[in-house]
Amino acid sequence: MSLHPDTVAVHSGRDDLAALGVHALPIDLSTTNPLPDVERGGDSYEAMAGGGRPIDDGSLVYARLWNPTVARFEDALAEMEHAEASVAFSSGMAAMTAAILAMTSATGRRHVVAVRPLYGGTDHLLGTGLLGTEATYCHPSEVGASIRPDTGLVIVETPANPTLDLVDIAAVVAAAGDVPVVVDNTFVTPILQNPLDHGAAMSLHSATKYLGGHGDVIAGVVACSEEIAEALRRVRAVTGGLLHPLGAYLLHRGLTTLPVRMRQQQENARQIVQWLIDQPEVDEVFFPGLTGDPQGILDRQMRGTGAMIAMRMRGGYAAASAVASAVQLFTHAVSLGGVDSLIQHPAALTHRPVPADARPDADVLRLSIGLENAGDLIADLSHAFARLSTPVSPFGQKVASHL
Ligand SMILES: *Cc1c(COP(=O)(O)O)cnc(C)c1O
Repeated sequence: MSLHPDTVAVHSGRDDLAALGVHALPIDLSTTNPLPDVERGGDSYEAMAGGGRPIDDGSLVYARLWNPTVARFEDALAEMEHAEASVAFSSGMAAMTAAILAMTSATGRRHVVAVRPLYGGTDHLLGTGLLGTEATYCHPSEVGASIRPDTGLVIVETPANPTLDLVDIAAVVAAAGDVPVVVDNTFVTPILQNPLDHGAAMSLHSATKYLGGHGDVIAGVVACSEEIAEALRRVRAVTGGLLHPLGAYLLHRGLTTLPVRMRQQQENARQIVQWLIDQPEVDEVFFPGLTGDPQGILDRQMRGTGAMIAMRMRGGYAAASAVASAVQLFTHAVSLGGVDSLIQHPAALTHRPVPADARPDADVLRLSIGLENAGDLIADLSHAFARLSTPVSPFGQKVASHL
């Protein structure tokens, strides 16, 4: 029986609960586990250290190799991503690090093709060469030409951060040939986009964002084939970027409301975009499909726009920074995807480590729309915009605004 994604979100990763005699997700905090005997303990260790799953009648040995609470979340996310498996990490950057190491250093192919724009942290990680990689940054249309015999991985993000640019996943996969493609799916989640259905080898999330959804867990996860999952688990077992079971519990619980949150946050974002495009203070609104999508990527690849918006302020950097400080309902903070709305200045914050020529413009603000009433959020922005207008003095002469 093929179930609707809403149903999968509520029921996935819970197959063993009835046999355990529980209804809610258990939290397993053991760092170590009793060994049945030396031989089976050793066999268990070897299976999991090699990236495999626990063996029957064996032992889970040590929590750096396997944790049941984390594994349930991984099963659930894999099902939602139409993947065989998923592997969870202590942060989105730990997940990206593992994906890069597993496909480059571990294979000897140390060249990475990175499609810009990317999350600032990913761009920075590749730029430093810290993981022993060499990166070629390119436009989506240049992926094929950028591939070399030693290319181990292609990295793309769609919708991209912060411009909401859409990249045709199937086209990038075709251009990459045999080279695996990882898609950062953080902005729209498996509810709105399943990169593996379009040929990507991995769908990566900063689970800190929409998957967690409540701003209280830092985590990352990669959905992929069982074969790639084994490579990722090997990296995780030796480098130790583990997701704590309490975080996994919160993420797994949060998945149940993910479809509803995504739909409502997206609907709020749609209303705010409608309002923003008419505002004289705003020069340009960035939102999937809004400024034209000649290739039809939105229809072909996504089931919705998501709830991230970027806007270019007519008053430049001064206006952008003033709005970020003037809002009251929006929180001026980095991160995104939670139930409450956030606003931030990418060039100063999230994309600060990106080289100046690839950094977002200084007049751009990024909005993450939450679950508040859309009218209240519009009123908050309207109030912040009103403070930008240059007041006219009673003497008919323009006075300097607070800017
Ligand atoms: C936040 C973010 C990351 C990094 O994730 P962390 O959980 O902060 O380590 C990666 N990609 C995107 C698109 C993000 O928004």
